[in-house]
Amino acid sequence: MYDIRCLKELLGREVSTELLFVHAFTGCDSTSRIYGIAKKTLFQKLIKPDSLIRASAVIFTTVDQDVSTIIDSGSQVFVSLFGGKAGTSLTNLRNTLLAKKVSSAKSFVKPEKLPPTVSTAKFHSQRSFYQIMVWMKKDGNMDPKDWGWKREDDILLPVMTDQKPAPDRLLKVIHCNCTTGCCNTRCSCRKFGFPCTSACGPCQTESCYNPYNLQQTFSLMRMMITFLLWFEPLDRQTT
Ligand SMILES: [Zn+2]
Ligand SMILES: [Zn+2]
Ligand SMILES: [Zn+2]
Repeated sequence: MYDIRCLKELLGREVSTELLFVHAFTGCDSTSRIYGIAKKTLFQKLIKPDSLIRASAVIFTTVDQDVSTIIDSGSQVFVSLFGGKAGTSLTNLRNTLLAKKVSSAKSFVKPEKLPPTVSTAKFHSQRSFYQIMVWMKKDGNMDPKDWGWKREDDILLPVMTDQKPAPDRLLKVIHCNCTTGCCNTRCSCRKFGFPCTSACGPCQTESCYNPYNLQQTFSLMRMMITFLLWFEPLDRQTT
């Protein structure tokens, strides 16, 4: 626990403003918390001081920033929080950490333990900056829809990502589009030992005789394989 008044005196006005950055970026009422990263991790980096985090805190607490500046800076904050070297891309760090975790894991690797995707990080950084501007009463010219929010039925909702869960190529491999009830191994689901799901084609509105539908355990396997395949294109990018 920290006493805010004491901290303010101790840290001076500049760092006090930068605390807004720590609070917004690590999660507050209107921005998401980062799985597995405590508030104090970023706070300690700020007061250490870690030069990259200090620079980011200044960027996030300065009015009239470009969206691209906020996205780039936020991405480097994530890299730092997840232990990557400055200048590493978030995608590469995510890929490296996945490989490390998979090789040493005794059980299923939880995807939420990895750094966020570039797309998720982008919207998180935008919302954090917007929130800070609201606190500083400098949001007059800002539209939340430009800063990670969307309006649905007159309610503002956070945009979590603008990417599909997996590339089309992989989604096609794992879902079938059979019109003949998935009776033989021309059904890609059946061929790979997967049950059909709502993502499959006509068989889900008519009839489906895929025997794997009865074996629930395969759903978990599908999830794991989807997850592992998902990273295959990233792996190629880095080599
Ligand atoms: Zn099928
Ligand atoms: Zn199917
Ligand atoms: Zn089917």
